[in-house]
Amino acid sequence: MNETNKKIAQTINNLLPELSSLSDQIFDFAEIGYKEYKSSALLADWLSKNGFEVTIPFAGLETAFCGIYKHKGGKANGGLSIGFLGEYDALHCQGHVCAHHMQTPSIIGAAMALINVLSDSDLPYEIHIIGTPSEEALDGGKNKMAENGGFDNIDVAFMVHGNTCTQLDSPTLALIELDIEFFGKSSHAGIAPDEGRSAVDAITMLQTGLGLMRNHLKDGSRVSNIILNGGVAVNAVPDYTKIKVEIRHNTMDYLETIEDWVRNIAEGSALATGTKTKITRIAHIYNTTMNEPLRKLLMKYANEFNCADIKPPREKCGSTDYGIVTQKLPSCSIWVKTIDVNAPPHTDAWYDAGKKPRNYQGIFDGAAICAATAYHILTDKNAFDEVYNCFKNK
Ligand SMILES: [Zn+2]
Ligand SMILES: [Zn+2]
Repeated sequence: MNETNKKIAQTINNLLPELSSLSDQIFDFAEIGYKEYKSSALLADWLSKNGFEVTIPFAGLETAFCGIYKHKGGKANGGLSIGFLGEYDALHCQGHVCAHHMQTPSIIGAAMALINVLSDSDLPYEIHIIGTPSEEALDGGKNKMAENGGFDNIDVAFMVHGNTCTQLDSPTLALIELDIEFFGKSSHAGIAPDEGRSAVDAITMLQTGLGLMRNHLKDGSRVSNIILNGGVAVNAVPDYTKIKVEIRHNTMDYLETIEDWVRNIAEGSALATGTKTKITRIAHIYNTTMNEPLRKLLMKYANEFNCADIKPPREKCGSTDYGIVTQKLPSCSIWVKTIDVNAPPHTDAWYDAGKKPRNYQGIFDGAAICAATAYHILTDKNAFDEVYNCFKNK
């Protein structure tokens, strides 16, 4: 291990009790999305006390924050701006079962190690530690933050996520959720059905249309639906129904083509059944795009720091609001081993692992990998150019 990495490891190790305590406190707060008042205040407070200029609330969200550290004039002096992102929301009733409690302590470790190894350098740069609320909710805090310019002042972004092994994140799908309502005309089902127009019939036609559409979609498309309101009384022609449709694909452009098709099917179903329809887009999430040069660097350092249980990325993943960040700038999330048993996230096993030694080792691993990668990009212009060109040409 070279001197820089030794110094990175030493800085993080010295800080690890403090970082672990932050992780434990956030674990105990167990605050759900957009309600992470104590967690965000704790982290913002730590950053202000340790040389960061902190803004909270940030980017339009009460529980988001940004802590900035500038060296030798930072961006104004031609330096790069490194973004370290962290989540801290728990799941309703389940607590921290996705290990979000360790993320921000880990990236704080990365930031402090980077500051330490570059303390004598003349290189201008700046670090933005950005707290991003509510990852677990479908509307995703990062989407709202992006709309409010929350990621406009950083050149590259890193995130750490807990996991059962050390691996890179995998491509995730873009997602759109639509609520479709049908408005019919009520009438007595036995005496005067001819005077009624059935909102349930419209659902039948919609579901038939969705089924027929599926065969003509590009590979990897997903269309699912549930009925939220399927009528209330069988002896009356139902005048109101509501259905939720979720569509996924690996690009947002193509997903919007599917959305148009679904909207046409809903309009057609209403026309055919003499009902009216209202279509509302409830939420959307962008797909993640992969930055190979950045991923290579992260894995190089995962190996150099001998991180636990290194594996290739998974083939399939769901959807995450981190997608919008990867659309806006070069970025990557490294998953580090925070749990010793092989259980999926959002289960009790992850809760049980929340304060175990492996969790604290995960804080170290994430911090070390991100600090060394950020140092590499800051001190090797070719490396940054490669990362940036990969993003531009995506
Ligand atoms: Zn989760
Ligand atoms: Zn998560």
